[in-house]
Amino acid sequence: KDQYIGPDEVLRKKKDYIIPCVYHFYSKPMQLVKGEMQYLYDTTGKQYLDCFAGVSVVNCGHCHPEITKAVCDQVTTLQHTCTIFLTENIVNLAERLAQVTPGRLQKTFFCSSGSEANEGAALLASIYTGNQEFISLRQGLHGRTKLGMSLTGLQMWRTDTSPVGGISFAPNAYCYRCPYGKRHPECDLACANEIETIIKTTTSGQVAALIAEPIQGNGGIITPPPGYFKRVKEILEKYNILLIVDEVQTGFGRTGKMFAIEHYGVEPDIMTMAKALGNGVPVGAFTTRPDIADKYTRPGASTLGGNPVTSAAALATLEVLKKNNLPQQAAELGLYLKTGLTELQKKYPLLGDIRGHGLMLGAELVKPDKSPAPEQLDAILEQMKDRGFLIGKNGPDRNVMAFQPPLVINRKDLDNLLNNLNDILAAIH
Ligand code: PMP
Repeated sequence: KDQYIGPDEVLRKKKDYIIPCVYHFYSKPMQLVKGEMQYLYDTTGKQYLDCFAGVSVVNCGHCHPEITKAVCDQVTTLQHTCTIFLTENIVNLAERLAQVTPGRLQKTFFCSSGSEANEGAALLASIYTGNQEFISLRQGLHGRTKLGMSLTGLQMWRTDTSPVGGISFAPNAYCYRCPYGKRHPECDLACANEIETIIKTTTSGQVAALIAEPIQGNGGIITPPPGYFKRVKEILEKYNILLIVDEVQTGFGRTGKMFAIEHYGVEPDIMTMAKALGNGVPVGAFTTRPDIADKYTRPGASTLGGNPVTSAAALATLEVLKKNNLPQQAAELGLYLKTGLTELQKKYPLLGDIRGHGLMLGAELVKPDKSPAPEQLDAILEQMKDRGFLIGKNGPDRNVMAFQPPLVINRKDLDNLLNNLNDILAAIH
């Protein structure tokens, strides 16, 4: 296609026809029209290094040829039936997920998004335990549906003025701004320990599950210290509360392991997935142990969940991740990027904290008094965009620069990224 309506007309139509909750970045946005592995292109043909991958979605790269072929082959053969008729991609995909997810996780339900996966996981936890209450972490994000949003701690995403009740919030493991003013490991994981106090004092005791992202994405790449999830799991087991791990943003190689919870050596009771599972094709899922799954016997089908096309995309995605060793590549390149960012941090105190694992890294921008510096971040992101680098932004104060590129990025790309960032930071400094 060589004729596009252009960014101004896109903005006008967006204003007229899209519900305004759908927001966008940049004061002067471009219109993206093409993607190729780690690169994106706008209407003028300008190339951008994608350092955000559509929020950890396109882990295998934009329009990866093998995934594209699998989707095209399936879309021209059989697009959709529904799960009352037998097709094989859905069961092959569930079998593959059982092989790659931790421990005894084995049985999967498919849907089309992360919000739906979390809704389903919460429902399953209630069915299994007979309990209705939940515990969630501050600054977490679990979806935009009624319950998903109610489980979400991040104020920016809590639009609902009458959220679902029975949800208690525990502190997140935010070591850079520890609410107890302590340091790890002397803190003895005070934030994890507080979950027990919350169970005993804030809840009625009838708690179905605690839901948590292993690394909080939108919350600001909040990376819990070692041992955190082991302690959380011990506490939950004492009270027969399930652990739902939301791997929607962290899953599928992003953090240098297939799933981020593997960094903590903990087996969740239910794991939710979406985003990178389809590499851009809408797939959501939750996987659990057979003893939990087998309590969910009443009809619960999703019309498009596990559809032949979306399942073909996910199967091809898992194949590409494995064949190219992308989790390992994310670990190595992530270390390279983190080292580069840490070098920049030594020169520029604006970079207050560098955190994350693999290619899920955050740089928290702060003023000299450690207060958040969101205006400086906006200026940097706009300039980086003009130089051809698309970087994300998150955190409760919108002051965390988020690096979550396709895992197929290379060292040369990262050198370019770091050099350009250095130029801009030097000019500000
Ligand atoms: N969980 C997490 C951790 C997420 O980051 C998101 C989306 N940003 C969701 C759930 C919701 O996923 P979706 O937008 O696919 O509904």
